[in-house]
Amino acid sequence: MKAIVNYENGPEKVKCMDVEMPVPSAGQVRIKVSYCGICGTDLHIFEGDGGYPTNPPVILGHELSGVVESAGEGTDPFWIGKRVVSETYYHTCGHCMYCKTGKGNLCPEKRSIGSAVNGAMAEYVVVPEKNLHLIPEGISLREAAMTEPLACCVQGVLEFGDIVPGDRVLITGPGAIGLMCLQVAVSAGAVVVMAGTAVDQERLELAKTLGASEVIYSDKPDGEEKIAALCAPFGPDVVFDCSGAGAAIRMGLRAVRKGGRYVQVGLTGRSVELDMNLITLKELSVRGTYAQKPQWWVKALDLVRRGEVKLEPLISNVCLLEDWEKAFDGYQRKIGFKYLLEAAGENK
Ligand SMILES: [Zn+2]
Ligand SMILES: [Zn+2]
Repeated sequence: MKAIVNYENGPEKVKCMDVEMPVPSAGQVRIKVSYCGICGTDLHIFEGDGGYPTNPPVILGHELSGVVESAGEGTDPFWIGKRVVSETYYHTCGHCMYCKTGKGNLCPEKRSIGSAVNGAMAEYVVVPEKNLHLIPEGISLREAAMTEPLACCVQGVLEFGDIVPGDRVLITGPGAIGLMCLQVAVSAGAVVVMAGTAVDQERLELAKTLGASEVIYSDKPDGEEKIAALCAPFGPDVVFDCSGAGAAIRMGLRAVRKGGRYVQVGLTGRSVELDMNLITLKELSVRGTYAQKPQWWVKALDLVRRGEVKLEPLISNVCLLEDWEKAFDGYQRKIGFKYLLEAAGENK
Protein backbone atom coordinates (compact mmCIF):
# COMPACT_ATOMS: atom_id res chain seq x y z
CA MET A 1 0.00 0.00 0.00
CA LYS A 2 1.00 3.66 -0.45
CA ALA A 3 2.18 5.53 2.65
CA ILE A 4 3.94 8.76 3.64
CA VAL A 5 6.96 7.59 5.60
CA ASN A 6 9.45 9.40 7.81
CA TYR A 7 12.33 7.06 6.91
CA GLU A 8 15.10 8.47 9.12
CA ASN A 9 15.77 11.32 11.57
CA GLY A 10 16.65 14.74 10.17
CA PRO A 11 15.17 17.43 7.94
CA GLU A 12 12.97 16.44 4.98
CA LYS A 13 13.40 12.70 5.53
CA VAL A 14 9.88 11.96 4.33
CA LYS A 15 8.72 10.25 1.15
CA CYS A 16 5.75 8.47 -0.39
CA MET A 17 6.55 4.79 -0.70
CA ASP A 18 5.08 1.32 -1.06
CA VAL A 19 4.95 -0.52 2.24
CA GLU A 20 3.51 -3.77 3.42
CA MET A 21 -0.16 -3.86 4.38
CA PRO A 22 -0.45 -3.83 8.22
CA VAL A 23 -2.11 -6.84 9.86
CA PRO A 24 -4.30 -6.34 12.95
CA SER A 25 -3.29 -8.39 16.00
CA ALA A 26 -5.68 -9.46 18.76
CA GLY A 27 -7.73 -6.49 19.97
CA GLN A 28 -6.86 -4.38 16.92
CA VAL A 29 -8.73 -3.31 13.80
CA ARG A 30 -7.59 -2.29 10.33
CA ILE A 31 -9.14 0.91 9.01
CA LYS A 32 -9.32 1.81 5.33
CA VAL A 33 -8.32 5.46 5.63
CA SER A 34 -10.57 8.04 3.98
CA TYR A 35 -8.86 11.27 5.01
CA CYS A 36 -5.90 12.23 7.20
CA GLY A 37 -5.29 15.81 8.34
CA ILE A 38 -1.90 17.48 8.33
CA CYS A 39 -0.98 18.88 11.74
CA GLY A 40 1.80 21.02 13.18
CA THR A 41 3.29 17.81 14.58
CA ASP A 42 3.71 16.39 11.07
CA LEU A 43 5.43 19.58 10.00
CA HIS A 44 7.83 19.42 12.98
CA ILE A 45 8.72 15.86 11.95
CA PHE A 46 9.10 16.87 8.28
CA GLU A 47 11.32 19.80 9.20
CA GLY A 48 13.33 17.51 11.49
CA ASP A 49 13.67 20.35 14.00
CA GLY A 50 13.44 18.03 17.02
CA GLY A 51 10.18 19.81 17.95
CA TYR A 52 8.50 16.41 18.09
CA PRO A 53 10.21 13.06 18.76
CA THR A 54 9.70 10.36 16.15
CA ASN A 55 10.70 6.75 15.71
CA PRO A 56 11.69 6.20 12.05
CA PRO A 57 10.92 4.42 9.85
CA VAL A 58 7.33 5.39 10.68
CA ILE A 59 4.22 6.33 8.70
CA LEU A 60 3.05 9.87 9.57
CA GLY A 61 -0.50 10.99 10.36
CA HIS A 62 -2.79 10.89 13.38
CA GLU A 63 -5.90 12.86 12.32
CA LEU A 64 -7.87 10.24 10.48
CA SER A 65 -11.28 9.13 9.40
CA GLY A 66 -12.11 5.89 7.64
CA VAL A 67 -14.03 2.65 7.55
CA VAL A 68 -13.17 -0.48 9.56
CA GLU A 69 -12.17 -3.11 7.02
CA SER A 70 -10.98 -6.07 9.12
CA ALA A 71 -10.32 -6.95 12.73
CA GLY A 72 -8.03 -9.15 14.79
CA GLU A 73 -8.94 -11.87 17.25
CA GLY A 74 -11.28 -11.06 20.10
CA THR A 75 -12.68 -7.85 18.60
CA ASP A 76 -16.36 -6.97 18.34
CA PRO A 77 -17.71 -7.72 14.82
CA PHE A 78 -19.95 -4.64 15.29
CA TRP A 79 -17.18 -2.42 13.98
CA ILE A 80 -16.74 -4.04 10.55
CA GLY A 81 -17.90 -1.63 7.83
CA LYS A 82 -18.51 1.22 10.29
CA ARG A 83 -17.34 4.80 9.67
CA VAL A 84 -14.94 5.64 12.48
CA VAL A 85 -12.36 7.99 13.91
CA SER A 86 -9.61 6.74 16.20
CA GLU A 87 -7.90 8.13 19.26
CA THR A 88 -4.19 8.43 18.73
CA TYR A 89 -2.68 6.43 21.60
CA TYR A 90 -1.54 3.11 20.20
CA HIS A 91 -0.13 2.12 23.58
CA THR A 92 -0.47 3.36 27.15
CA CYS A 93 0.77 1.30 30.12
CA GLY A 94 -2.68 0.92 31.71
CA HIS A 95 -1.35 0.77 35.27
CA CYS A 96 0.31 4.10 36.09
CA MET A 97 -1.35 6.86 38.13
CA TYR A 98 -2.31 8.73 34.95
CA CYS A 99 -3.81 5.72 33.18
CA LYS A 100 -5.73 4.81 36.33
CA THR A 101 -7.27 8.28 36.54
CA GLY A 102 -8.32 8.55 32.90
CA LYS A 103 -5.34 10.69 31.86
CA GLY A 104 -3.72 8.41 29.30
CA ASN A 105 -2.51 11.56 27.53
CA LEU A 106 0.06 11.95 30.35
CA CYS A 107 1.16 8.28 30.59
CA PRO A 108 4.97 8.08 30.49
CA GLU A 109 4.74 5.02 28.25
CA LYS A 110 2.31 6.60 25.78
CA ARG A 111 3.12 5.77 22.15
CA SER A 112 1.05 7.52 19.50
CA ILE A 113 0.28 6.72 15.88
CA GLY A 114 2.04 8.92 13.34
CA SER A 115 5.20 9.42 15.42
CA ALA A 116 6.07 6.43 17.65
CA VAL A 117 4.15 3.83 15.60
CA ASN A 118 2.74 3.75 12.07
CA GLY A 119 0.02 6.33 11.40
CA ALA A 120 -2.70 7.11 8.92
CA MET A 121 -1.10 8.93 5.98
CA ALA A 122 -1.56 5.64 4.20
CA GLU A 123 -4.23 3.52 2.58
CA TYR A 124 -4.71 1.52 5.78
CA VAL A 125 -3.88 1.92 9.47
CA VAL A 126 -4.07 -0.52 12.38
CA VAL A 127 -5.28 0.76 15.77
CA PRO A 128 -6.55 -0.76 19.02
CA GLU A 129 -10.31 -1.41 18.92
CA LYS A 130 -10.75 0.50 22.20
CA ASN A 131 -9.64 3.71 20.41
CA LEU A 132 -12.56 3.74 17.99
CA HIS A 133 -15.44 6.21 17.98
CA LEU A 134 -18.38 5.84 15.64
CA ILE A 135 -18.92 8.83 13.33
CA PRO A 136 -22.51 10.01 13.91
CA GLU A 137 -24.78 10.28 10.90
CA GLY A 138 -24.69 13.70 9.31
CA ILE A 139 -20.95 14.16 9.81
CA SER A 140 -18.90 13.63 6.65
CA LEU A 141 -15.66 11.68 6.58
CA ARG A 142 -13.91 14.94 5.63
CA GLU A 143 -15.17 16.72 8.74
CA ALA A 144 -14.59 13.66 10.92
CA ALA A 145 -10.87 13.71 10.05
CA MET A 146 -10.70 16.84 12.22
CA THR A 147 -12.11 15.20 15.35
CA GLU A 148 -8.66 14.79 16.94
CA PRO A 149 -7.66 18.47 16.82
CA LEU A 150 -11.20 19.44 17.82
CA ALA A 151 -11.03 17.12 20.85
CA CYS A 152 -7.80 18.92 21.87
CA CYS A 153 -9.67 22.24 21.66
CA VAL A 154 -12.68 20.94 23.58
CA GLN A 155 -10.40 19.80 26.40
CA GLY A 156 -8.54 23.12 26.44
CA VAL A 157 -11.65 25.27 26.44
CA LEU A 158 -14.06 23.26 28.60
CA GLU A 159 -11.74 21.45 31.02
CA PHE A 160 -9.04 24.07 31.55
CA GLY A 161 -10.81 27.25 30.45
CA ASP A 162 -13.77 26.42 32.70
CA ILE A 163 -16.01 28.62 30.56
CA VAL A 164 -19.33 29.73 32.04
CA PRO A 165 -22.01 31.55 30.01
CA GLY A 166 -21.25 35.22 29.64
CA ASP A 167 -17.49 34.86 30.08
CA ARG A 168 -15.48 37.22 27.98
CA VAL A 169 -12.75 35.37 26.15
CA LEU A 170 -9.71 36.45 24.16
CA ILE A 171 -8.19 33.94 21.72
CA THR A 172 -4.80 34.70 20.18
CA GLY A 173 -3.85 32.79 17.02
CA PRO A 174 -6.66 32.29 14.47
CA GLY A 175 -5.34 29.13 12.78
CA ALA A 176 -7.43 25.97 12.60
CA ILE A 177 -6.96 25.33 16.34
CA GLY A 178 -7.89 28.91 17.25
CA LEU A 179 -10.97 28.78 15.02
CA MET A 180 -12.08 25.53 16.67
CA CYS A 181 -11.46 26.88 20.20
CA LEU A 182 -13.52 29.92 19.19
CA GLN A 183 -16.51 27.80 18.23
CA VAL A 184 -16.29 25.62 21.34
CA ALA A 185 -16.11 28.71 23.57
CA VAL A 186 -19.10 30.29 21.81
CA SER A 187 -21.05 27.04 22.19
CA ALA A 188 -20.41 27.27 25.94
CA GLY A 189 -21.85 30.80 26.05
CA ALA A 190 -18.68 32.89 25.86
CA VAL A 191 -18.34 36.21 24.04
CA VAL A 192 -15.11 35.90 22.08
CA VAL A 193 -12.59 38.42 20.76
CA MET A 194 -10.18 36.83 18.27
CA ALA A 195 -6.73 38.37 17.82
CA GLY A 196 -4.25 37.86 15.00
CA THR A 197 -1.75 39.80 12.94
CA ALA A 198 -1.67 41.24 9.43
CA VAL A 199 -0.86 37.82 7.90
CA ASP A 200 -4.05 36.42 9.45
CA GLN A 201 -6.50 38.65 7.59
CA GLU A 202 -8.26 35.77 5.83
CA ARG A 203 -8.42 33.77 9.08
CA LEU A 204 -9.81 36.71 11.03
CA GLU A 205 -12.51 37.21 8.38
CA LEU A 206 -13.46 33.56 8.81
CA ALA A 207 -13.46 34.00 12.61
CA LYS A 208 -16.22 36.61 12.24
CA THR A 209 -18.42 34.18 10.34
CA LEU A 210 -17.76 31.45 12.94
CA GLY A 211 -18.99 33.47 15.91
CA ALA A 212 -16.26 35.89 17.03
CA SER A 213 -17.91 39.05 18.34
CA GLU A 214 -14.88 41.13 17.32
CA VAL A 215 -11.55 40.55 15.63
CA ILE A 216 -8.40 42.51 16.47
CA TYR A 217 -5.05 43.03 14.76
CA SER A 218 -2.76 42.82 17.75
CA ASP A 219 0.25 44.04 15.75
CA LYS A 220 -1.43 47.43 15.18
CA PRO A 221 -0.42 50.13 17.72
CA ASP A 222 -3.93 50.30 19.21
CA GLY A 223 -4.50 46.52 19.23
CA GLU A 224 -4.14 46.06 22.97
CA GLU A 225 -6.19 49.17 23.76
CA LYS A 226 -9.00 47.78 21.65
CA ILE A 227 -8.98 44.50 23.56
CA ALA A 228 -9.11 46.40 26.86
CA ALA A 229 -12.01 48.52 25.59
CA LEU A 230 -13.95 45.51 24.29
CA CYS A 231 -13.51 43.68 27.60
CA ALA A 232 -13.94 46.73 29.88
CA PRO A 233 -13.70 47.36 32.73
CA PHE A 234 -11.31 44.61 33.84
CA GLY A 235 -10.22 42.64 30.77
CA PRO A 236 -11.03 39.16 29.46
CA ASP A 237 -12.05 36.50 32.00
CA VAL A 238 -10.16 33.86 30.05
CA VAL A 239 -7.36 33.99 27.47
CA PHE A 240 -6.44 31.08 25.20
CA ASP A 241 -3.22 31.30 23.24
CA CYS A 242 -3.37 29.12 20.15
CA SER A 243 -0.40 30.73 18.39
CA GLY A 244 2.57 29.64 20.49
CA ALA A 245 4.15 33.00 19.62
CA GLY A 246 6.01 34.85 22.39
CA ALA A 247 4.49 38.24 21.56
CA ALA A 248 0.94 36.84 21.69
CA ILE A 249 1.56 35.00 24.95
CA ARG A 250 2.96 38.13 26.62
CA MET A 251 0.03 40.17 25.34
CA GLY A 252 -2.45 37.60 26.62
CA LEU A 253 -0.94 37.69 30.11
CA ARG A 254 -1.11 41.50 30.10
CA ALA A 255 -4.70 41.52 28.83
CA VAL A 256 -6.35 38.92 31.08
CA ARG A 257 -8.19 40.36 34.08
CA LYS A 258 -6.98 40.01 37.66
CA GLY A 259 -8.01 36.62 39.00
CA GLY A 260 -8.62 35.43 35.43
CA ARG A 261 -7.66 32.23 33.64
CA TYR A 262 -4.92 31.85 31.04
CA VAL A 263 -4.69 28.65 29.02
CA GLN A 264 -1.72 27.78 26.80
CA VAL A 265 -2.97 25.68 23.89
CA GLY A 266 -0.26 26.28 21.27
CA LEU A 267 3.24 24.80 21.49
CA THR A 268 5.96 27.42 21.34
CA GLY A 269 8.72 25.53 19.51
CA ARG A 270 11.47 27.45 21.28
CA SER A 271 11.34 28.83 24.83
CA VAL A 272 9.63 32.15 25.45
CA GLU A 273 10.46 34.93 27.93
CA LEU A 274 7.60 35.94 30.24
CA ASP A 275 6.98 38.43 33.04
CA MET A 276 6.09 35.98 35.82
CA ASN A 277 5.09 38.90 38.06
CA LEU A 278 1.94 39.26 35.99
CA ILE A 279 0.89 35.82 37.21
CA THR A 280 1.65 36.67 40.84
CA LEU A 281 0.33 40.22 40.96
CA LYS A 282 -2.87 39.38 39.08
CA GLU A 283 -3.41 36.05 40.86
CA LEU A 284 -3.82 34.29 37.52
CA SER A 285 -4.68 30.65 37.04
CA VAL A 286 -2.36 29.44 34.29
CA ARG A 287 -3.03 26.08 32.73
CA GLY A 288 -1.61 24.00 29.91
CA THR A 289 -3.58 21.50 27.86
CA TYR A 290 -1.99 18.59 26.03
CA ALA A 291 -3.63 16.27 23.52
CA GLN A 292 -6.97 14.93 24.80
CA LYS A 293 -8.82 12.42 26.95
CA PRO A 294 -11.54 10.08 25.61
CA GLN A 295 -14.51 12.06 26.96
CA TRP A 296 -13.53 15.05 24.84
CA TRP A 297 -13.77 12.93 21.66
CA VAL A 298 -17.38 12.17 22.52
CA LYS A 299 -18.09 15.85 23.18
CA ALA A 300 -16.27 16.93 19.99
CA LEU A 301 -18.35 14.63 17.78
CA ASP A 302 -21.53 15.77 19.50
CA LEU A 303 -20.74 19.47 18.97
CA VAL A 304 -20.23 18.81 15.24
CA ARG A 305 -23.36 16.66 15.02
CA ARG A 306 -25.43 19.45 16.56
CA GLY A 307 -23.90 22.03 14.23
CA GLU A 308 -22.39 24.05 17.09
CA VAL A 309 -18.94 23.56 15.62
CA LYS A 310 -18.57 23.85 11.85
CA LEU A 311 -15.54 22.12 10.40
CA GLU A 312 -16.20 22.23 6.66
CA PRO A 313 -15.32 25.98 6.41
CA LEU A 314 -11.89 25.20 7.91
CA ILE A 315 -10.98 22.68 5.19
CA SER A 316 -9.20 24.70 2.52
CA ASN A 317 -7.22 22.00 0.69
CA VAL A 318 -7.71 18.31 0.01
CA CYS A 319 -4.82 16.58 -1.78
CA LEU A 320 -4.31 13.00 -2.85
CA LEU A 321 -1.90 10.99 -0.70
CA GLU A 322 0.72 10.98 -3.47
CA ASP A 323 0.51 14.79 -3.70
CA TRP A 324 1.56 15.11 -0.06
CA GLU A 325 4.54 17.35 -0.92
CA LYS A 326 2.26 20.01 -2.42
CA ALA A 327 0.09 19.87 0.69
CA PHE A 328 2.99 20.05 3.18
CA ASP A 329 4.44 22.97 1.22
CA GLY A 330 1.18 24.96 1.26
CA TYR A 331 0.63 24.24 4.94
CA GLN A 332 4.21 25.23 5.74
CA ARG A 333 3.73 28.55 3.90
CA LYS A 334 0.47 29.15 5.84
CA ILE A 335 -1.68 29.22 2.71
CA GLY A 336 -5.32 28.44 3.53
CA PHE A 337 -6.50 26.76 6.75
CA LYS A 338 -6.69 23.00 7.16
CA TYR A 339 -5.11 20.49 4.78
CA LEU A 340 -6.40 16.95 4.38
CA LEU A 341 -4.77 14.09 2.52
CA GLU A 342 -7.24 11.88 0.71
CA ALA A 343 -6.57 8.17 0.68
CA ALA A 344 -9.96 6.77 -0.32
CA GLY A 345 -12.23 9.80 0.02
CA GLU A 346 -15.91 9.19 0.73
CA ASN A 347 -15.82 5.87 -1.16
CA LYS A 348 -15.82 2.82 0.96
ZN1 LIG B 1 -2.83 16.86 15.29
ZN1 LIG C 1 0.23 4.70 32.04
